[in-house]
Amino acid sequence: MAGPALMLFNTMGRRKEPFMPLEAGRVGMYTCGPTVYNYAHIGNLRTYIFEDLLRRTLEYNGFAVRHVMNITDVGHLTSDADTGEDKMEEGARREGRSIWEIAAFYTEAFRRDIARLNILPPAVWCRATDHIAEQIELVRRLEEKGYAYRLPDGVYFDTSRFPDYGRLAMLDVEGLMAGARVRPVEGKRSPADFALWKLTPPGVKRQMEWDSPWGRGFPGWHIECSAMAMKYLGETFDIHAGGVDHINVHHTNEIAQAECATGKKFVRYWLHGEFLVMEKDKMSKSAGNFVTLQTLIDRGFDPLDYRYLCLTAHYRSQLVFRWESLEAARSARRSLLERIHGPGAAGVEAPEAAAAAAGSAAGGRAGADAGREAVRGDGEVPVRGDRAERYAARFLEAVNDDLNIPAALAVAWELARDSGIPAGGKKRLLLDFDRVFGLRLDIPPQEEPGAEIPAGVKELADRREEARRSRNWKEADALRAEIAKLGYRVEDTPSGPRISRV
Ligand code: AMP
Ligand code: ZN
Repeated sequence: MAGPALMLFNTMGRRKEPFMPLEAGRVGMYTCGPTVYNYAHIGNLRTYIFEDLLRRTLEYNGFAVRHVMNITDVGHLTSDADTGEDKMEEGARREGRSIWEIAAFYTEAFRRDIARLNILPPAVWCRATDHIAEQIELVRRLEEKGYAYRLPDGVYFDTSRFPDYGRLAMLDVEGLMAGARVRPVEGKRSPADFALWKLTPPGVKRQMEWDSPWGRGFPGWHIECSAMAMKYLGETFDIHAGGVDHINVHHTNEIAQAECATGKKFVRYWLHGEFLVMEKDKMSKSAGNFVTLQTLIDRGFDPLDYRYLCLTAHYRSQLVFRWESLEAARSARRSLLERIHGPGAAGVEAPEAAAAAAGSAAGGRAGADAGREAVRGDGEVPVRGDRAERYAARFLEAVNDDLNIPAALAVAWELARDSGIPAGGKKRLLLDFDRVFGLRLDIPPQEEPGAEIPAGVKELADRREEARRSRNWKEADALRAEIAKLGYRVEDTPSGPRISRV
């Protein structure tokens, strides 16, 4: 029996629509990945968490998802348009390393970040530089069909030839022109036209450049996504997602390139996540406005505290980052874990059984089935099965209403507090919900992956120890207070200082 239909807000048309994949039971999904010239900041990571929630919701509904993510390692210019330096070249210069080293280093850092946030890895990771031939081929097709023109510095897409241009952004070309703040490229027929292939200027040697029918150079930024998405998912596929900043230019241009080359619809559902915004002036100076996951870890947070924080806001609303909100998320996540694993819940069943129950359920009824079975299987005070079932149904209704994760989290909390449901059944149902949340609710608090003392706290404790040794009590006390602010306690024991979580 089917649960409530999954409704998704499609940026194309700006309305919620029932989700129906092209092929029954299967979903092709492409998400724009990072430009690997620096660490991802927590704003970028919010978008990847949103996309993970989308994928998990699809899987919870029983769909097999083929998720493709690109790694941009060439062609993304600092202006986000057709002028400025390549971000990768800039990163390499900043760090005095080759572009290839920079790309490998930050790709690895990105993979580590998403693993720490319990984001499921895509089935296909594709690097732009591994798909130069596909990109050249796509540009060639566009040129052959008359959608491209050449200028001295590259090949450009002629937006006037695509009547649908700008439909995703709901901007008319006039609007796009008015909004074009970047320095125009000389000879461009319209400010909205964009580079498909850029030529290396004469006398310049780039670290990354390739031969092409138009001369030595490198691909424009947008072409990689059209080329790789179609290679791995077909010319028309189900879902494409990214941050809202990609609507006006990047995704608008991806559509133009793909649809003009194939004459077919490129993507059926476009989903965009709103931004994480920094509270101005409240951010510590040393961190500036560039906060990474490691910054949070160094301040004593578990990456999953940040994930929890992201779950408290709907993906289409802006989220203002405040340290106090992150602290509140940390407490909430911990107390949820304690409710699940604390006295009464722990020991009712083997963890393997819970994991199996969570893992075996498939389809829209997964939650309801797990709940009912849980209540019956425990042999405790009999409760009417539909009590747990109601939670499961409300959970599914929330997530299927365009990923209303905050509402789903509220259902989970209500369930966690409900004394009318046996602990074992409750745990099983919460672990089932966690297939969407991805909060690792299966790991008891003391075994949390981030439970070890963070480097930042250790460093403060070392400095305090040094201050103590030199009898600088004032400094030692100040450092102890700083450690306490991060949620840790330092005690002086005969074998040296001992740090623990408060
Ligand atoms: P980039 O590496 O610049 O291509 O960005 C990676 C992803 O992060 C893209 O999907 C952007 O839309 C998204 N993004 C950039 N800034 C933010 C932010 N402050 N909040 C949420 N997402 C963002
Ligand atoms: Zn893209």
